[in-house]
Amino acid sequence: MFGPDEFYNQLLDSSHFDFYGTVRRFAETEIAPYVFQWEEEGEFPLELFRKAARAGILGPAIPAEYGGGGGDIFHAMLLCEGLLWGKSMGVLAGLNSLAIAMPPVMILGTEEQKKNFVIPVAQGQKIAALAITEPNAGSDVSGIQTRAEKKGNSYILNGSKTYITSGTRADFITVLVRTSSDPYRGLTFFVVEKGFQGFSVANKLKKMGWWASDTAELSFNDCQVPVTHRLGEEGSGFKAVMDNFLSERMRLAAYGHGCAEVALYEAETYVKQRRAFGKTLAEFQVIQHKLARMATLVRACKSLNYMTADSIRRNLNPIEAVCQAKNFAAEAAKEVCDHAVQIFGGMGYMRECVVERLYRDVRILGIGGGTSEIMNEIISKQRGIRA
Ligand SMILES: Cc1cc2nc3c(=O)[nH]c(=O)nc-3n(C[C@H](O)[C@H](O)[C@H](O)COP(=O)(O)OP(=O)(O)OC[C@H]3O[C@@H](n4cnc5c(N)ncnc54)[C@H](O)[C@@H]3O)c2cc1C
Repeated sequence: MFGPDEFYNQLLDSSHFDFYGTVRRFAETEIAPYVFQWEEEGEFPLELFRKAARAGILGPAIPAEYGGGGGDIFHAMLLCEGLLWGKSMGVLAGLNSLAIAMPPVMILGTEEQKKNFVIPVAQGQKIAALAITEPNAGSDVSGIQTRAEKKGNSYILNGSKTYITSGTRADFITVLVRTSSDPYRGLTFFVVEKGFQGFSVANKLKKMGWWASDTAELSFNDCQVPVTHRLGEEGSGFKAVMDNFLSERMRLAAYGHGCAEVALYEAETYVKQRRAFGKTLAEFQVIQHKLARMATLVRACKSLNYMTADSIRRNLNPIEAVCQAKNFAAEAAKEVCDHAVQIFGGMGYMRECVVERLYRDVRILGIGGGTSEIMNEIISKQRGIRA
């Protein structure tokens, strides 16, 4: 019989299965045993980047000639699904910040820039972050106020960025700034290096979830950036942001699916052990139905994600489906993790409990990479409901 697993599997080949196996082993041996401590400390060791690179799992979708895995969108998603078996979305977000930071270099950069910036990042030698959001411009990218003014062979940057993942530890920050007043065509990407005069980390931010991922507010105060660090022509930044959204949102949908899968596993394991009123929790029908609902959401998430990723791989530009997949995964993960906390009872509210962490971690999925409301705006536009 052609069951659902065969449907998913026909989209993958042996390189995907091998890759997932490596990622999963890495998560279970190199992350899960230490994750509680890293979460409490608010960061994971820098050595993890190098270990991940040595294991061949960092930057799976970066072309092999630039130090990556040379894989496709499914490799990128399987990295997310597999790393979540380390039981922290924060570790995944931090370790994977190159996946949002490097595409502008790959899309706009010269050969020399790709070699200088992408290769050391893909090899785990350098850390990369993407800085678009500002205190007064998040969903509305056209509101970006950080400016770059050309002076001789340099640009002088002034302004600030906020909520930047890996921002406190990044060596290379891909920054979107304003080079002219045109709301969209006046935006340009630069690579700012740690140590450039006038660049500083203004604040390490405390968050509801993603504790093991550092999140920063960055400040540019007459920061001098050589022309060699401008990516593409002036004004080419906004299109590069848009070009990057499809895969970024697809990966976030994979974050949701992966978290929901782990929360379901944790809950199914717990109900077989925990006893109340002389029975295991698994014997109560209300618990069975909760788990059935959770399993249904996990499968629905996976189906929508894999169908949509297949369209991305075939260059069909499935804008509407990606937004739907991201929104669905964000809601599904929230519901699944909520049920998991309930099933664990008091233990589900304790910091030592994996589902407590996942419950907090998944809340970001309707906010980062474009909010749920912005996804719905795009879906409406794609469907011709609004102009
Ligand atoms: C943990 C974390 C990590 C992040 N990492 C990064 C990073 O690495 N790099 C980076 O650049 N950014 C990052 N961000 C920022 C993130 O992308 C933004 O928070 C997100 O885009 C939303 O922007 P905002 O916070 O300014 O919200 P706002 O844009 O102010 O939105 C506030 C509310 O208004 C709603 N809204 C806005 N416009 C509309 C509209 N047209 N119609 C209907 N509703 C609307 C939104 O949906 C939302 O509910 C991160 C954020 C967090 C929390």
